Amino acid sequence: MTRYVYSFGRGKAEGSSLMRNLLGGKGCELAEMTNLGIPVPPGFTITTQAWAHYVRAGRESPEGLWDQVRAALGTLEQHAGLGFGDPKRPLLVSVRSGARVSMPGMMETVLNLGLNDATVEAVAARTGNERFAWDCYRRFITMFGNVVLRIRREVFEEQLDALKTRLGVESDPEVPADQLRKLTQTFKDIVSGRTGSPFPQDPEEQLRLAINAVFDSWFAKKAVEYRRIHSIPDDWGTAVTVMAMVFGNLGETSGTGVGFTRDPRTGERSFYAEFLANAQGEDVVAGLRTPLRIDALRERMPQVYEQLHDIATRLERHYKDMQDIEFTVQEGTLYLLQTRSGKRSAAAAVRVAVDLVHESVIDQHTALLRVPPLELRKLFLPVLDPRDKERALSAGRLLARGLPAAPGGAVGQVVFDADRTVELARNGQSVILVRPETSPEDVAGMYASQGIITARGGRTSHAAVVAVGMGKPCIVGASDIVVHEDRRMFETGGRIVREGDIISLDGDGGEVLLDEVKLIPPEITAEVGEFLGWADRYRTLGVRANVDTPEDAAKAREFGAEGIGLVRTEHMFFSADRLPIMREMIMATESVARRSALAKLQPFQRDDFIGIFRAMDGLPVTIRLLDPPLHEFLANPREFRDMIEERARLDALGMNPELQEALEQKIAKVDSLREANPMLGHRGCRLGITHPEIYGMQVRAIMEAACLVAEQGGKIQPEIMIPLTGTVGEMKLTYQQVRRIADGVIAETGVPVNYTIGTMIEVPRAALIADQIAQDAEFFSFGTNDLTQLTFGYSRDDVAKFLPRYMELGLLPHDPFSVLDREGVGELIRIGIERGRRTRTDLKVGICGEHGGEPSSVEFCHQVHMTYVSCSPFMIPIARLAAAQARLRARETAGGPHG
Ligand code: PEP
Ligand code: MG
Repeated sequence: MTRYVYSFGRGKAEGSSLMRNLLGGKGCELAEMTNLGIPVPPGFTITTQAWAHYVRAGRESPEGLWDQVRAALGTLEQHAGLGFGDPKRPLLVSVRSGARVSMPGMMETVLNLGLNDATVEAVAARTGNERFAWDCYRRFITMFGNVVLRIRREVFEEQLDALKTRLGVESDPEVPADQLRKLTQTFKDIVSGRTGSPFPQDPEEQLRLAINAVFDSWFAKKAVEYRRIHSIPDDWGTAVTVMAMVFGNLGETSGTGVGFTRDPRTGERSFYAEFLANAQGEDVVAGLRTPLRIDALRERMPQVYEQLHDIATRLERHYKDMQDIEFTVQEGTLYLLQTRSGKRSAAAAVRVAVDLVHESVIDQHTALLRVPPLELRKLFLPVLDPRDKERALSAGRLLARGLPAAPGGAVGQVVFDADRTVELARNGQSVILVRPETSPEDVAGMYASQGIITARGGRTSHAAVVAVGMGKPCIVGASDIVVHEDRRMFETGGRIVREGDIISLDGDGGEVLLDEVKLIPPEITAEVGEFLGWADRYRTLGVRANVDTPEDAAKAREFGAEGIGLVRTEHMFFSADRLPIMREMIMATESVARRSALAKLQPFQRDDFIGIFRAMDGLPVTIRLLDPPLHEFLANPREFRDMIEERARLDALGMNPELQEALEQKIAKVDSLREANPMLGHRGCRLGITHPEIYGMQVRAIMEAACLVAEQGGKIQPEIMIPLTGTVGEMKLTYQQVRRIADGVIAETGVPVNYTIGTMIEVPRAALIADQIAQDAEFFSFGTNDLTQLTFGYSRDDVAKFLPRYMELGLLPHDPFSVLDREGVGELIRIGIERGRRTRTDLKVGICGEHGGEPSSVEFCHQVHMTYVSCSPFMIPIARLAAAQARLRARETAGGPHG
């Protein structure tokens, strides 16, 4: 018989941390904590395997499950000293979801289960608190009604609100016991009215229905969306934990709280917790009431505080990572309800990893593997320019202050709901989502926004925790803000801000400001520098940058680039002062005119190269000769339409034959350059072969710049790269042309500069004949954008038309233009490297397609022994870490840390 249920209680558990996949995160850690002797209410966990059987059988519990649940319930009754449904000493339980990774608030929970018309009286008698008992019962009916019977929560809440208005009271605790008793009857009437049956009184039936509802909540829309955003497989499923209730709302010596063993925003080592007296956990997590700092607990119950602090420290040492804990104090007794590795901002992830190494808790190797490389991108989130922010403050543009919950700055238009945020973001607009508080339904909107502001809630509220995980700047508890969702505006200090107005938020300082405040890119902090320094120590793969300007080159160097892997020279021709000359060159019908235009372009190119060589002094710089089809420089579709209209106008006037003639020629030229398949057309080295004067000018500019910088003492290593080579003949001819001109410049200037000539491998044929290509090419750089395009036969520019559908159908695991396709494109890369190095054993091989900064692709590049990856400057820290992780993982699989 398959075992579906694992108990925990009285210091002993059948499960442990190692059973995460089976028991879910919550279930396995409750078991682990129980075994560690930490006070946890007794309970049991139903496995994800039971969930899988339930789903496969069309929502039918697997055979034997219920018997096992009954047995575990018996043990739980013994541990708790109470009876489930016992009219004198009733056991109440919570029924909680728990997947193997935490999905905060995405699935359902039912609290206070086991209450019915008889047990509620027993709870009242035992606690001597009638109000408490009826409050629990009405909460239970609301939750059960909502989660299990699918009656909207508001239906119940409206009744409570109406009652408060009738009684003339503001808050729930002011509603007396007899009124709650009546309200509970109203709730039961709602249930029977809506479902046609009375509210279930049998606790076992309640439990069975609740377990199934929690199983089903894996498929709730918000949970599905969350999984999509976080790439969590749909078939993992959820476990269900049934646990004895403990109550934080039994009076002033009770309460509930959440805490982190370190600050999840900055990673600072301080106990970062919040506490709410006389409350239940849902009040805190949902951000319904703003909790107090943990000092409130220390003042009220110093011993409990000390015990909690000790436990938090122990848990962190045990798990060797920052923990996020939930706890409840029931009449002075502390219980832990959950521990998990805490979600943290990217900055905190790095800081915690670095600090734990300094505290000798983990080693560098573990620290490096703990930070997902893409998280680092969030560290390079823009922040508000302090000077511009200062100006905004002195100009009286401060709208409100709140708790800074997630770092970074954001500017955008105010929007009050998630759907509209998603819609506007899809059209490329920047949005700041402003909500009274957020709930799991808002997650897609939060993801689409630039930043989030909530009027209520603490630093552990839903908004704060989710925003930190997403890397979105966030302010919570901005209590001056009164949100009027229906009128699409918020009020603050007598001012009104409407939907569509621009505001700025500072997730580091907590200020909300009217209008735009400038954003600036952040710097690398000391901890990040140290952490990336470790990454550099472990990695063997080089990291270079793709840049086109001296400024970007300097930035890339700051981020740790060890050279430039790709300068796309065509980007240098698009500025307003150069494009007309470029067009003149292309339009020229005779070679004299073309040469004269090229001569005008050459100084521009030379100056660019001088700037780049200087910025990269001492490091290699790969410059690619012109690649795109010439028509890209001529006229965009709008300009072409204007030309046609102008021709019609001149035709009609019939007055200016010279102008007409010139325009006619221009149109004819544009027409003649038009290609059916420009990406497969007259571009790359094909252009260099048919118009040798273009490459001639470029090589001259590169070498003149190189000689000049070298003469001034610069240490430079120019690498001239030929694009889109596909045949040995192309390689040979272009190689010889480049060599002749480059050597000519060296001879003219008398400055010896060491340079190399290599090629991009972008055409599958080039990869297959790499051994022959390498007879001339002194280095290879895989242009995986084109190589992916040509291997799949998918146009880079049109793939969006079918790719989303392909992904939905599971025809492709990823977008192959983002994540390198190891099976096909990767195989060509393997072949290319292996054959290339057959000819030249020391062949330098890099990658310069967009894949060069994507962690899984970087791992592949390490595996096939590339020399370096090259990516955009902001991706460099990611590539450095990904390269280190690739090496560490390879060593682990090779057996042991020194493998
Ligand atoms: C490539 O094809 O991967 C490449 C780097 O060149 P481009 O993107 O400029 O075509
Ligand atoms: Mg290319």
